[in-house]
This record gives sequence, structure tokens and C-alpha cells, in this order.
Amino acid sequence: MQVTIGKSKLELVQGDITQQDTEAIVNAANPSLLGGGGVDGAIHRAGGPQILEECRKIGGCPPGEARITSGGKLKAKYVIHAVGPIYRGGTQGEAETLASAYRNSLELASKHGIKSVAFPSLSTGAYGYPIELAAPIALKTVMDYLQAHPEIELVRFVLFGHSAYEAYERALKGLL
Ligand code: ADP
Repeated sequence: MQVTIGKSKLELVQGDITQQDTEAIVNAANPSLLGGGGVDGAIHRAGGPQILEECRKIGGCPPGEARITSGGKLKAKYVIHAVGPIYRGGTQGEAETLASAYRNSLELASKHGIKSVAFPSLSTGAYGYPIELAAPIALKTVMDYLQAHPEIELVRFVLFGHSAYEAYERALKGLL
């Protein structure tokens, strides 16, 4: 599914984040930036050791923020490492932290002149955020950013599996 937001495109696809040809892909990182499972493991496996080396030098990233490295051997030139919240029932500011992880990722993209960005569904794997609650936050945050920042031409959400894709599609239809 694809929609136009201001001058930009917002796209939902089912697929694997590591295979995207956008200028940047976003990693669902943890605060150590030293690798993990899920998206993080897949990105470091596909991108090679250079990304981890750069992450080590950065030294970490608190929840809600993002840091940028090169893309190593990936098609994408950059990896933006975003740290989402661990879901603890929804009363610990998780929604705001999740929104800010998306916003800070896009701000880094703008700052580096990156015009196309692919996101996974941050926090909805190991971090336990229910996808039907996370999807509208992710989409609304990106839509608001694109309205104000036409320099980002494309944001693609890459959803892992059909049910994740459907959750995002439902959420996007609800926001239009
Ligand atoms: P977090 O720790 O932020 O929850 P995870 O990597 O555990 O991050 O999961 C985030 C989401 O990404 C989950 O919905 C998971 O199914 C999905 N996912 C896992 N591997 C990939 C991949 N290669 N490409 C895209 N999405 C993926």
C-alpha cells in the first residue's frame, strides 16, 4: 500500500529490512548498540563487522533516540540505529518514547541529506509492544514529520510477515 503525504511517499511492504535499497535503513537497536536478535542480528549479519565497529565507537543510545553509521555491505548507504521502548503495560511513557525514536531517526536522515528511509516495526518484537498499538503511533509520527519535511521523499515500512503487514495497513487506513 502507498499513500502520498504532502510531497512525499509513505509505503507499506511485507519483506526483510536488510534487503532494502533505500538510502538508509533503520535498525531496531538496543541501548548498548552492540547487537542482538531480530532486526538487529539480521542487519549486523548482512552488513558485516564494520557497522558493529562504528557502533562500539558511538558507545550507546538511550531509548527514544537514534544514532547513524554506515551501511557496511548493505545496499543501504546508512544504518540509523533507533532504540524503542520496552513495553511495560503502557503507563511508563512508552508511546512518547516510541514516537520519539521514529522522529529522531527522521531528523538524523534530514541532517544527512538522506531522501529515502526504510523502517522496521520498532519495539514490536523482543520489546513486546503490541503491534496494533504501535502501528498507529509509528505511522502518525512519520506522517506528521513528512508533512513538515518534504526533503524526505520516501518512507517505507518493511513489515515482517503478513499479520504485521495487515496490522499496519489497518492502522494506516484508520489515519487517512
Ligand atoms: P524490538 O527489540 O525493538 O522489539 P525486534 O527486532 O525484536 O525489535 O522486532 C521488531 C519487529 O521487526 C518485529 O515485529 C519483528 O517481527 C520484525 N522483524 C524481525 N526481523 C526482521 C527483518 N529481517 N526485517 C523486517 N522486520 C523484521
